[in-house]
Amino acid sequence: FENEKTYGRFAENNSIDEFHKKFDDSVTRIQKDFGQNYPMIIGGKEIFSNDIFEVRSPADRNLILGRFPLATKEDTLHAIETARDSFFKWALVPYETRVRIFREVADIFSQNKFDLAAILSFENGKNRLEAMGDLDESIDFMRFYAEQLEINQGFSKQTKSATSNENTKSVLKPYGVWGIISPFNFPSAIAIGMTSGALITGNTVVLKPSSDAPISAFKFVESIYHKLPPAAINFVTGSGSIVGKTILSSDIIEGIAFTGSKQVGMSGYSTVTSHRPRPFISEMGGKNPAIVSASSDIEKATDGVMRAAFGYSGQKCSACSRVYVHKSIAPKFLDMLVAKTRALKVGKPWEKDSYIGPVINADAVQKFQNASNIAKKDGKILCGGDLVPDASCKDGNFVMPTIVAGLPKDHELIREELFLPFLCVEEFDNFDEAISLANKSNYGLTAGVFSQDRTEIEKFFEKIEAGVTYANRAASATTGAMVGAQPFVGWKDSGISGKGAGGAYYLLQFLREQTQTRCE
Ligand code: GLU
Repeated sequence: FENEKTYGRFAENNSIDEFHKKFDDSVTRIQKDFGQNYPMIIGGKEIFSNDIFEVRSPADRNLILGRFPLATKEDTLHAIETARDSFFKWALVPYETRVRIFREVADIFSQNKFDLAAILSFENGKNRLEAMGDLDESIDFMRFYAEQLEINQGFSKQTKSATSNENTKSVLKPYGVWGIISPFNFPSAIAIGMTSGALITGNTVVLKPSSDAPISAFKFVESIYHKLPPAAINFVTGSGSIVGKTILSSDIIEGIAFTGSKQVGMSGYSTVTSHRPRPFISEMGGKNPAIVSASSDIEKATDGVMRAAFGYSGQKCSACSRVYVHKSIAPKFLDMLVAKTRALKVGKPWEKDSYIGPVINADAVQKFQNASNIAKKDGKILCGGDLVPDASCKDGNFVMPTIVAGLPKDHELIREELFLPFLCVEEFDNFDEAISLANKSNYGLTAGVFSQDRTEIEKFFEKIEAGVTYANRAASATTGAMVGAQPFVGWKDSGISGKGAGGAYYLLQFLREQTQTRCE
């Protein structure tokens, strides 16, 4: 963990022992709440149900963390209608008040972040520092968007006068009700980032969290809903086929913010835009490449690639899943990468020394097994390829970090996003070829290069087709964007919006311009 200081701000300013001591305390404290029934929140009321689903830890399926209502279509429609009815109550609140509320919630999160990170670790299987990174990012999103609203004075501006008797203002106004559909992999940060974008700009919201990890999103809604007009934020839990579909098919919804797979995103996009234009902000995965040139520092390149491929078991949209390494250094690079990967400790993610936790659910395990079987047939597995045999892992979804070489170019495992700790390696002869191979993907989310040659680095930035690009990032080749510093945006099939989360243009997407001219 000493090497992991780029994650978790606490670890930068305090000793790692203090970090673990506080995390241990939180792990003990939060367990008393396991198994409780959680409500939905609709129209400012907590609503429980007898029709529920269980949330179990992916690291130990015997651990029931909580139970949530399985919302019906009627529940969802009610949430959407009540969000519409409360729109003006919230939209007309001065932006300074909205900014204040988000800063208050950010402070609450900051005070409780060890407990919240411990819950998140049980819930989605992130190791301690990754879980803390998720919480830090959640807080950053709230503070950054509050700051953006303030810097832009609520997005209202005087324009130049067309004639002497006209006075004109450009006012960016919220649309109405937004549907927010959030993923399991950043159950706090992405749920909060998207919801905050919509809410702080004056829209009202219906949030459907991932059913694999709804507790972290609940903790946010619980902290904020009392501070808002009833129904400005609604939290509806349940299946994609009922809750998700009802949100996407509703005519009342004015916009959607979505993070998840391309398949679900594109089908949602077609539904939402089928009969009228509506904004659909989406981030939809990647098959992210890292290029390791002949001139690279191999120690740094192997560190960066290993962390980007296997941090949180490859379940980040930004994870590195393809590496292109120059032929001349390939044997050395691969020996070092395999040795570092084999040394990673697999275990319960909330425990002190675990680096690799579980994958999220049984479907992910099945997908891993299928991919490994294909890789054994069509390529060569350099490490991993199996479930983790240790007895301590038998009740969780533990799979081994896997590196595969020798697949034919254009193989499905090189093309398709797996969202697993599964890295494909290819060799190249010259740098231009490496860039074309890296660009030979429908996705374009993140990309990394390791090189000590400036010309190569500049060529990479000129030609690479990806929204978030890094050179020589030993801490994590393609992952770990920081709010305010690295706007997170997908190109090509990785996104629709073209404006990055945590960037200066993000909030504009939740607003529409009104030109107001007053004549004397
Ligand atoms: N923002 C995260 C990162 O830079 C990834 C978010 C995602 O997986 O969607 O690693």
